[in-house]
Amino acid sequence: MSSCRVSRKEFILPRCTKACPAGIDVPRYIRAVRDGHYDEAIAVVREKIPFPTVCADACFAPCEDACAYQQVGEPIAIRALKRAAVDKGGDSWKARKKLIQPTGKKVAIVGAGPAGLTAAYYLQSLGHAATVYDGFPKPGGMLRYGIPRYRLPEERLEKDIRHILELGVTFRANTLVGKDIRLEALAKESDAVFISSGANSGARIPLEGADKKGFLWGWEFLTDVARGRAPQIGNEVVVIGGGNVALDVALTAKRLGAKSVRIVCLEAREEMLAHPWEIALAEEEGITIQNAWAPKRVLGKEKVEGLALKRCVSTLDDACNFDPVYDDEITDRISADTIIAAIGQTPVLDFVESLPGVKKNRQRVTS
Ligand code: SF4
Repeated sequence: MSSCRVSRKEFILPRCTKACPAGIDVPRYIRAVRDGHYDEAIAVVREKIPFPTVCADACFAPCEDACAYQQVGEPIAIRALKRAAVDKGGDSWKARKKLIQPTGKKVAIVGAGPAGLTAAYYLQSLGHAATVYDGFPKPGGMLRYGIPRYRLPEERLEKDIRHILELGVTFRANTLVGKDIRLEALAKESDAVFISSGANSGARIPLEGADKKGFLWGWEFLTDVARGRAPQIGNEVVVIGGGNVALDVALTAKRLGAKSVRIVCLEAREEMLAHPWEIALAEEEGITIQNAWAPKRVLGKEKVEGLALKRCVSTLDDACNFDPVYDDEITDRISADTIIAAIGQTPVLDFVESLPGVKKNRQRVTS
């Protein structure tokens, strides 16, 4: 007879808490909101993450997908309740926050994105002196330079970041580790180093003609827009990719004034990685989606004029690994002033190799 042991934690954790990537005690903050104790609700969120405002605005809310109320109707609007707490609550949670006396220990943090700032917040709360290094002029990483403003207004992000810096966290702007300062030097002058440099480069695909003027990469495009350096994109924009970033790129291009925005992706509609509600929002805004097509070649002389496509027959093999199969006989051509490829992001980890014994293997750090 076989037996299946379920851990106590697995057994007693509510589904919403299990589904939340941060493991927030969702039922407890819902109860606090119900009772009008908004600061208490914020304090519950802050037990796990220092970004209640960001999550209230921009989280994809997997907790709602797991909500047990779906068995009898709609899920509880958990993220909206968090937003109510953030908007109605004040700062009295600060008085309840326990701060440990300084320990004299120093921690260097590489990257001021959500992971780096979260580490800094909790390390500083524990009495360690946290210094965060980032190549960008302001802290926030992907939250500031990747998520479009229409999803996360900058002043809302600033609210969460201000609370982190107020604890005494030091932020070193425009300091790219590996270029402006060596990781080895940080390791020497700190008791610990936390690497949270993120996936801050758009993934590349080999595509004939991708060097033409008017061909852009998704992450770089979003970053340029966030920094007020939006490129000229013309009237017709084609976005390559079927994930959430591709949708963000398409909606951003629309907001920059493109008259026609078309998404081209390998996946069939039901296989797209983007969330269904984001796909629906894009279509509501007039964005068209061309499923099951792959880019074949960028058209034009020096500048982008269009994209040649070939049919994508399937994207996954029998073991569900990504292994697209194409039919080169079925083709199409679409016109474009700008093509933006948003097919994922990759980490840039060359800087880690200045530490003795540490190596980079593709996108991973090994020793
Ligand atoms: S909205 Fe996001 S952060 Fe908040 S509880 Fe749900 S999954 Fe967690």
